Amino acid sequence: MEEDMSKILVFGGSGYIGSHMVRASIKLGHPTYVYSRPHSDHTEVLNEFQSLGAIVVKGQLDDHEKLVLALGEVDVVISALAYPQVLDQINIVEAIKVAGNIKRFLPSDFGCEEDRISVLPPFQAFLDKKKKVRRAIEEANIPYTYVSANCFGAYFVNYLLCPYDQRQEITVYGTGEAKAVLNYEKDIGIYTIKVATDPKACNRVVIFRPRTNIISQLELISLWEKKTGRNFSKIHVPEQEIVTLSNTLLDPLNIPVSIIHSVFVKGVTMNFEIGEEDIEASVAYPDLKFTTIEELLDIFLHDPPKPASAAFE
Ligand code: NAP
Repeated sequence: MEEDMSKILVFGGSGYIGSHMVRASIKLGHPTYVYSRPHSDHTEVLNEFQSLGAIVVKGQLDDHEKLVLALGEVDVVISALAYPQVLDQINIVEAIKVAGNIKRFLPSDFGCEEDRISVLPPFQAFLDKKKKVRRAIEEANIPYTYVSANCFGAYFVNYLLCPYDQRQEITVYGTGEAKAVLNYEKDIGIYTIKVATDPKACNRVVIFRPRTNIISQLELISLWEKKTGRNFSKIHVPEQEIVTLSNTLLDPLNIPVSIIHSVFVKGVTMNFEIGEEDIEASVAYPDLKFTTIEELLDIFLHDPPKPASAAFE
């Protein structure tokens, strides 16, 4: 079958997860475009993309004319904008309506499956904004794919295990028994490009839930103990303490604790069934392979990724 060499435009492509999508898009041979603010401070990564053949389009997110022009050049649009810019994606939806040529739009989801879960209020308010963008896309009849990438693996291994510290204690949120899904960022980049150009994934929710990447905090710690030969004391933070923090911390500091509660205490990445209409990526694309959690921990042992600088959400 002929390969789909759609032209792909990424918003937020210089960012934490967006940069993995841009690299994957280039690697898979797609003509790749990155929409970036005129005064972005991500010069180094944007220069790297240009040297690899990507086209960087400079523009603001509220510059309608610029948006329509940029969209006119491409087939597929991926947004990897961060939490504060989630509602700015309505500008992208408006421009896609005018441009009229976009074959697929992937809004900036890439976390929990927001239409299936219900969480503590600060995180819920954040997910409600993402849901608002989904409803605007559907109302405009724009072909979409919604990607639920679950937890960014290296990011949460850093957060939960603090592998760069010599400390003997590891914090455990709640009982530590709830299961969560952790996927390596490089894989999220590759699978996102794969689904963005796959006709099967049009108007579908794609969930990244490989069996090898489902783990509880306690299992993750014990795997890390086995790999490092060290023993850690586990300091449990009771669920009620996390709930209280989510009620008392100011916005946006209340969001990370609410996310920890939802994912690692309540297990929201695992507590719903994948529906018949949904696509689970590891089953749908057997030609690709997710890095397992074991392999991810090996990467931390032998070739540690830099500590993440992404916003928590
Ligand atoms: P990020 O790195 O913080 O930002 C992405 C890009 O947004 C930036 O590189 C920047 O590109 C652009 N941008 C546009 N307007 C901006 C502004 N006013 N200020 C700062 N940047 C601006 O994003 P991210 O952390 O990767 O988040 C992307 C998505 O992943 C979000 O939907 C987030 O909720 C999700 N996420 C999920 C997890 C998880 O574990 N599942 C973890 C973190 C994030 P230019 O500088 O080129 O304009």
